[in-house]
Amino acid sequence: MIVALDKRHVWHPYTAMDEYLSSTDPLVVASVEGPYLYDLDGRRYLDGNGSWWVSTLGHRHPRLVRTLAEQAGRLPHVSLAGCTHEPAAALAAELTAVAPEGLTRVFYSDNGSTAVEVALKLCGQYWAQNGQPRRTRFVALSGAFHGETLGATSLGGMEAFRAVFGPWLFDVVRVPSPGETDGGGWERAFDTLARAVRAAPDEIAGVVVEPVIQGAAGMLMHDPAYLRALWELTREVDTFLVADEVFTGLGRTGARWACDLAGIAPDVMCLAKALSGGLMPFAATLATERIFDGFRGDRSRAFYYGHSYCGNPLGCAVAREVLAVYRDEDVEAQVARKAPRIRARFEALAALTGVSRTRAVGMVGALDLGGGGYLARAGWQVYEAARARGAYLRPLGDTVYIAPALNIPDAALTELLDIVEDSVRAVVTGRG
Ligand SMILES: *Cc1c(COP(=O)(O)O)cnc(C)c1O
Repeated sequence: MIVALDKRHVWHPYTAMDEYLSSTDPLVVASVEGPYLYDLDGRRYLDGNGSWWVSTLGHRHPRLVRTLAEQAGRLPHVSLAGCTHEPAAALAAELTAVAPEGLTRVFYSDNGSTAVEVALKLCGQYWAQNGQPRRTRFVALSGAFHGETLGATSLGGMEAFRAVFGPWLFDVVRVPSPGETDGGGWERAFDTLARAVRAAPDEIAGVVVEPVIQGAAGMLMHDPAYLRALWELTREVDTFLVADEVFTGLGRTGARWACDLAGIAPDVMCLAKALSGGLMPFAATLATERIFDGFRGDRSRAFYYGHSYCGNPLGCAVAREVLAVYRDEDVEAQVARKAPRIRARFEALAALTGVSRTRAVGMVGALDLGGGGYLARAGWQVYEAARARGAYLRPLGDTVYIAPALNIPDAALTELLDIVEDSVRAVVTGRG
């Protein structure tokens, strides 16, 4: 019944609908708890990717649920135009207190794409009205993913997602990904970037990067030294470094911010996903005092931008509680304990024929199924094999990965890693 209604009316994201309608048997999720999804028959599945990377504290964390209900009973929404409220003010103070140094201002929106859109417009307008109107170009990486709005899509470096929209996208300075080569290769990618930036240093509005992990590209990882070098380069030419920590922020890489791994503080930082722990669509773009100051003065200098749900009290209240739970459950220490287990298990899988490469950082482990040909849909074969074994493991092309809740219990993590191993083995040996 649910599937029949769905197939009649629902248009799914990132889904070839013809194939979906004819041959997909979607997982109908009836309820969730902690690291698990439950279907209508009560069958349990480990959520291998925290529901597209958002539920870093597991599903239905009781403190988050309680906070959401209490806030909904008191003040579910009011605009942030000329009004303010405790959740928005307190969250901004708490976020800036734990953010990389110098990020003192918080602009709220609803999702990762809008957090990036805000970042682009902040940088663009800053230069336009502060004496450097020629700084209009953004630098973005090959394989980058920064969201779905047209600005974010322009930054995006995955051809499949942008080709058809070409006529509406703005041009960026596209530079190679430091994660496409195995280890040690980041210097070459950085040299190309540095040459491009130094060739037109006063035309660059900002460099936008997914620090340490390019998620949607297939969990491509790079040495934090690249990020450090990039930060130094942006200081050299006095442009902005925009860190899109929508995926990496709040502990995913093992550090609170991926930028911490490089010991740097960006000029702008985009947050969403984990920020509201899978309860609310919610986002924040953090900026420095310098950028904020560039918008002061008469009314013509204001940032004329805002969403209906900007600073939504439900999102703010939940985000405050997310930060509190991270503190109280010492999530960073939990990650430090679990990350080596993920790394070890993925590294061991590199020995399997059919697995071309493995990598891990923090609470992300990934492997590529090589070869094309009969393995061209191997990622989805692993998905099916894992589903039969009780895990939800949506791949990125032929990259199989896990990005589970950071507070996943040890036993559940063992179970998830066992299922990954069994499923990959079954597929590469043809016994799927
Ligand atoms: C998911 C993601 C986005 C987009 O966030 P949405 O909430 O899906 O709009 C932007 N940047 C990165 C790095 C992401 O992983």
